[in-house]
Amino acid sequence: MEKVDITIIGAGVVGLAIAAEVADDTREIVVLERHETFGQETSSRNSEVIHAGIYYPKDSLKAKLCVEGKQLLYQVCHRHGIPCQQTGKLIVALNEEEVKGLEMLLAKGEQNGINDLRMLSTNEVKKMEPHIQAKAALYSPSTGIIDTHSLMKYFESAAKDKGAALAYECEVKSIEQCAQGYEVGVQDADGEAFSFLSRVVINSAGLHADKIAALAGIDIDAAGYRIHYCKGEYFKVGGGRHKLVHHLIYPSPTAISLGIHTVLDLQGMMKLGPNAFYVEEIDYQVEERHKKDFLESIKPILPFVEEDDLSPDMAGIRPKLQASGEEVRDFIIKHEESSGLPGLINLVGIESPGLTSAPAIAKYVGKIAGKYLGP
Ligand SMILES: Cc1cc2nc3c(=O)[nH]c(=O)nc-3n(C[C@H](O)[C@H](O)[C@H](O)COP(=O)(O)OP(=O)(O)OC[C@H]3O[C@@H](n4cnc5c(N)ncnc54)[C@H](O)[C@@H]3O)c2cc1C
Repeated sequence: MEKVDITIIGAGVVGLAIAAEVADDTREIVVLERHETFGQETSSRNSEVIHAGIYYPKDSLKAKLCVEGKQLLYQVCHRHGIPCQQTGKLIVALNEEEVKGLEMLLAKGEQNGINDLRMLSTNEVKKMEPHIQAKAALYSPSTGIIDTHSLMKYFESAAKDKGAALAYECEVKSIEQCAQGYEVGVQDADGEAFSFLSRVVINSAGLHADKIAALAGIDIDAAGYRIHYCKGEYFKVGGGRHKLVHHLIYPSPTAISLGIHTVLDLQGMMKLGPNAFYVEEIDYQVEERHKKDFLESIKPILPFVEEDDLSPDMAGIRPKLQASGEEVRDFIIKHEESSGLPGLINLVGIESPGLTSAPAIAKYVGKIAGKYLGP
């Protein structure tokens, strides 16, 4: 049976970043992706924001990997011509209570090592963004936007150039532990089943990472790996309104999301989103009737947006570890040696800021895999 050193399951931005990191000509590396090309799920259904790392608890993986990932992303973009723009971001407070919330957020951001955050007064906000309403705002100059497709294309090419094989239309169906590591069972585009051996298996399957962990024999409820789908829809903003805003504008965050915010793209167009609600099934339909909620939530900050300006755009699904109403959870990135599955590395719950964190996650996982495989 064919043997490889490392199998990466999933060619989203995280799986591809890991492939680019671990690939070297001395190792056999394969990426298995069930779609016909990379980035067909969450990695192409998000806000494309390079986050600063403000919101996450001190010392969490989300905080550490986001702050490191942001720096690495800007470097990768500048070195390899990947379109990005350091737009800066304003998180807006509308009343005294929210101002206190922003002050706490500022302290949290500073604890996470972000040293360029600044509170802005009403007048300072007006100078920067004359058309928005705010009592105060927290300004994050290092936040930006990125062309995620170009980033994924770059990671894919870098991985291939260093000898990794990208196998599309290959769905992982089974993972059996064996003396040599794992026997990975795959179904290809023609429905043909085949299997091969891999010393290391890296599960970067996004919304399906819990199912992959279960295939490898993990009790996902006991381990706390069950994923809950939390949908986020976007509405396009027409009517030339995009010309009235120059930064990413966020409201004060809620427990499960950063709130409906402006999403600027590299062409200068504007969307609003994402909202956040738990769903049972994966479905990317945008419900027109949610337009009213969008308007209601954004109007106090962007009073110039009218109902007729909004049209349904796209949706994404967050792979959340916490069910509705539960405490916020961190990323899980775990070598399962202690669960009796050495060589299996699970990445579960890689929701936002997973795009920003991708290059830092890749280094983190690369170290684990490198240590396990040895020189
Ligand atoms: C609405 C929304 C907005 C977001 N905004 C931001 C943002 O602005 N900034 C930010 O940093 N992050 C953001 N994120 C988070 C970010 O998009 C994700 O963290 C990131 O894309 C996760 O990438 P991934 O590679 O882990 O997963 P995915 O992109 O989902 O890739 C997983 C891949 O695994 C494949 N796969 C699954 N099962 C199998 C199998 N059995 N066999 C083979 N292949 C399989 C899938 O087909 C898929 O291609 C947002 C997320 C959402 C939902």
